[in-house]
Amino acid sequence: MTTMIQDVVHDTAAGWDAAKGEYVLPPLPYDYAALEPYIDEQTMRLHHDIHHAGYVKGLNAALKGLEEMRAGVRPPSEVGDLTRRLSFHGSGHFLHVVFWNSMAPPGKGVGGEAHGRVGEAIDRDFGGMTPFRVQFKSAAAQVEGSGWAILALEPVSGRLMILQAEKHQNLSVWGVVPLLSLDVWEHAYYLRYQNRRADYIDAWLNLVNWDFPSQHLDRVLPR
Ligand code: MN
Repeated sequence: MTTMIQDVVHDTAAGWDAAKGEYVLPPLPYDYAALEPYIDEQTMRLHHDIHHAGYVKGLNAALKGLEEMRAGVRPPSEVGDLTRRLSFHGSGHFLHVVFWNSMAPPGKGVGGEAHGRVGEAIDRDFGGMTPFRVQFKSAAAQVEGSGWAILALEPVSGRLMILQAEKHQNLSVWGVVPLLSLDVWEHAYYLRYQNRRADYIDAWLNLVNWDFPSQHLDRVLPR
């Protein structure tokens, strides 16, 4: 089990440096401008280099704070605040790692209809791509404030669920594994789309890297 989880983290991310024992910001799997015209280069630079980096820093800081609390350097009364920061920044880091991999430069097999194992699972669990899109797009559009739409594997049933997240950490179902994540924080789209979140969601669907959730499914839930 441990090996399996480490494989997933390693393959999807390199968001963790085992030698240093700390979380790290993985480079984008493509150039900053590679998602044009749907997502602009400046948004990608700010989003990855500033926003995502901030969550990595916050996650490491929360863990460091908890270590200091255990050592008696910080009072135990800080545990609530530190654990809250662990949840916020940790969820922020992990969802961004999935987010970058959920997209690929426009081309063959990107956007459009799901294929491969995740395509089969979408047909089975949502009744096809059209009903999937209805639910996923609505979930993304209707997140209140900052958050996410997430396609996740629920491992007890082996079926997929579409979830919303408020901020990064709220509204989750324990145990799920995010396979595909769509960031609907304003920092993800405001420079190009301003208040038109629905236009950004439609554009984003042209960038979905459908190979990624299928590969992720194969690792987490081998056939
Ligand atoms: Mn973001």
